[in-house]
Amino acid sequence: MSGVSEKSELFDYRAFVALIEGFEQDYKTDINTETYFGFPIEPLFNIEKSLLTTGQKNVAYFSMEFGIAPSIYNSFRLTRPMSKENQFYSHEVFSNYWLCDYLFKVKTDKMLDIPIYGGGLGVLAGDAVKSSADLGFSLVGVGILWNKGYFKQNFWYKHGQVPEELTWDPATYPGLVPLKNIITIETKEGPVHLRIWKYYVYSHDKKYACPIILLDSNLEQNAPSFRKLTDQLYRSDEVWWKIYQRLILGVGGVKALESLGYSIERYHLNEGHAAFALAEKYIQLGKIEEFKKYQGRFTYTCHTPVAAGHDRFSIHDVKRILTDKYAQAACALGKETENSDQINLTYMCLNNCQKVNAVAVKHGEITRLQFPNFSSKIKSITNGIHTHTWLSASFEELFDRYASTLGDWRKNPENLKKISELKGDEKFRNDIFEAHQKNKNILIETLKRWDLKTDILTIGWARRIAGYKRPALIFQNVAEILKIAYEIGPLQIVMSGKAHPNDDIGSAHIEEILDHIDQLNEHRKVIKVLILENYDTYFGKLLTNSVDVWLNNPLPPFEASGTSGMKAILNGVIQVSTLDGWVVEAEKDDIGWIFGYRHSGARIGHEMDLRLNEDSQALYKVLNEVTKLYYQTYWKGNLDAQSPWIDKMIHCVGKSSFFNTQRMMREYRQVMWET
Ligand SMILES: *Cc1c(COP(=O)(O)O)cnc(C)c1O
Repeated sequence: MSGVSEKSELFDYRAFVALIEGFEQDYKTDINTETYFGFPIEPLFNIEKSLLTTGQKNVAYFSMEFGIAPSIYNSFRLTRPMSKENQFYSHEVFSNYWLCDYLFKVKTDKMLDIPIYGGGLGVLAGDAVKSSADLGFSLVGVGILWNKGYFKQNFWYKHGQVPEELTWDPATYPGLVPLKNIITIETKEGPVHLRIWKYYVYSHDKKYACPIILLDSNLEQNAPSFRKLTDQLYRSDEVWWKIYQRLILGVGGVKALESLGYSIERYHLNEGHAAFALAEKYIQLGKIEEFKKYQGRFTYTCHTPVAAGHDRFSIHDVKRILTDKYAQAACALGKETENSDQINLTYMCLNNCQKVNAVAVKHGEITRLQFPNFSSKIKSITNGIHTHTWLSASFEELFDRYASTLGDWRKNPENLKKISELKGDEKFRNDIFEAHQKNKNILIETLKRWDLKTDILTIGWARRIAGYKRPALIFQNVAEILKIAYEIGPLQIVMSGKAHPNDDIGSAHIEEILDHIDQLNEHRKVIKVLILENYDTYFGKLLTNSVDVWLNNPLPPFEASGTSGMKAILNGVIQVSTLDGWVVEAEKDDIGWIFGYRHSGARIGHEMDLRLNEDSQALYKVLNEVTKLYYQTYWKGNLDAQSPWIDKMIHCVGKSSFFNTQRMMREYRQVMWET
């Protein structure tokens, strides 16, 4: 996998625009010989040329979702008017400050994230592609253009979350272009035709780029029911949708790469959703011996110990949709046991991909317990985050100011470990706190109607709402949290998160949180609680950058990795966490407080056994200490720069030298792709 650098001959401007559908009418003002939506176009010719070249270790990275976050990083410019649907003007809030919610919204006026992700898995995929571009890897992402995104979240008091359809306009989304290529998948119910769209992810220095190709079934030549197949990410009300969506990603993905003429040496399946890519190659190669030789090209990342994260379909349902040869391939590759009447996509990947990885050291241990027959091939590569996307402006400025110690941290985020050399520097200790306060002020400014204060301890919790993540743990015993707020010091809590529309437990948690918030109205002088609608990468960045403490309380060992805490530590935000996922690898580094149930031994346990009482007690105990130390450190605008609080902030930033996708992608290359 060599870097992509020399000037292209195979691929020039004319060849580039000739692939774009409707170039003359729609894209001519945004794409020219020099620029692509305001960015230099040369890197695009280079990567296209590289992907067309045989003999290079080109990688195709398949993922159901990609969270690219152009609203916060590398935003393209569009000369023509963008549809209003692609703009997000305001956000609603639910708080214990009733009147405010009724009167005001959070003004955002930001571009909608390209809405093709649901949560952490997609954000990881987006960050992985960004770091691939930073490193000059020859990699193409393969995904789906979700015409209605994931969903739009509304809170209706007493009803919790009410999901609504999201609409957006791919045709005026900056940086996204439709190609002329149409591919077709045959099924028992007729052909499914798919358009290929392309988006480019640039490196932070804009010298390199990696494309993501996105499949779209919303074409006139498709039957009406097929046009909706690529509407909603993770639509799961009927198994019919699930099978088709996976067929499109796996089989459609391989066909799309071929239709573009890309020469792919490694097919990386980010989660089992793309497993049908194996079936496509199995059919193409005809002979089992040929396919066996080809398996070395397939690699797979398993992301979750939670049962719902592993797709299983009855052979009966599969045969209803897949043509005989695909159904036969699925049976040959994806049965859990010989006599099983189910196809299991996790097993399809485990059986047939030469290399498999889990997403943190602890998760590797759990995955080997879950799938003992495959334990020898399951490696661990710990997740990360893309430094340049998640770093706040004030910390960027801080790191630059101390460049004599930190060196070229932009190129090598690993350099951030040198921050420990600044621990004894009184000025730096003041500066890092000040940089944090700037971020906190941005949060306060964004939520200004809710009147948050810069000198009140602020706790953040935001992520996908799912049972094992225990979203309402902090409210398990409200009297305890009130005791802290009244007796030690006031608190501000800011939350956000979506539950999958078919996840009843997740939705119930949202109702529970809204109820607790409502009941805290009379205590709003000492504890203010806000929950923001429609969590996305924009709010993900705002919150992880700005709160004082990031709360992460999944039930161990069900959080495979988690990444939001990594965004927080990069910005000096202290962790209060259970011991799970990535946190296990930072336990000894004093990045905050670790509490609650510890998993060990050979049994995984049960994800419904939530241990809410014990772990909430442990959480309150820790929050007591956290609150005390915070107000000893910072009281009415006076900072004790010698406080251990500042040590912890510094340890956090130091640890982010490891928890980034640049290190992660280097490991993928070494461990998964190059051997
Ligand atoms: C980072 C991120 C996540 C992942 O959060 P976890 O705590 O790892 O579950 C989910 N959603 C969004 C929008 C994010 O930015």
